[in-house]
Amino acid sequence: TTLVADLNARLRDVPDFPKPGIVFKDITPVLADPRLFGRVINAMAAPFRGQHITKVVGVEARGFLLGAPIALALGSGFVPARKPGKLPHRSIVERYSLEYGADGVEMHEDAILQGERVLVVDDVLATGGTAEATAKLVKRLGGELVGFSFLISLDFLEGPQRLGRDKVTTLLTF
Ligand code: IMP
Repeated sequence: TTLVADLNARLRDVPDFPKPGIVFKDITPVLADPRLFGRVINAMAAPFRGQHITKVVGVEARGFLLGAPIALALGSGFVPARKPGKLPHRSIVERYSLEYGADGVEMHEDAILQGERVLVVDDVLATGGTAEATAKLVKRLGGELVGFSFLISLDFLEGPQRLGRDKVTTLLTF
């Protein structure tokens, strides 16, 4: 069976989480299956093999779960991008607006060195606000943003357009 079919069979739609009207894509059943988890990591890393990625940035929190094994698969280092106030060392922050309110992401100021080739990883691409802010942090530190790898893209929210279609790879789109 194909990876897409197996993912569709295992992903869980949770209606009205975390708010009424939102259908949350729950990836935990995928992570719990060691064969499927391994196939996902291989498939998300595949487009970036041979591209000399030196750092994979995983976005809190599910981006850590996918980003760390992808980093190992690519022979790259791993860097966490976190919600403001969680990182212990000197950090830089990017704020971004949401439909209601604002949010932010932070990275350690020494996490990316000048000229490093960087891949940003998360589970779900929705509006692209989180990934765009993460990409800005990478560029502020002098990194080269090679691309983004998502398990799922909610294309109707136009995240790929916001990030640049040529930079975005996804396993599943809705
Ligand atoms: P964006 O900034 O609007 O693209 O939202 C993306 C962020 O929200 C990512 O960090 C995702 O993990 C999270 N997210 C949005 N929708 C879902 C969902 O349906 N399932 C899991 N995470 C989601």
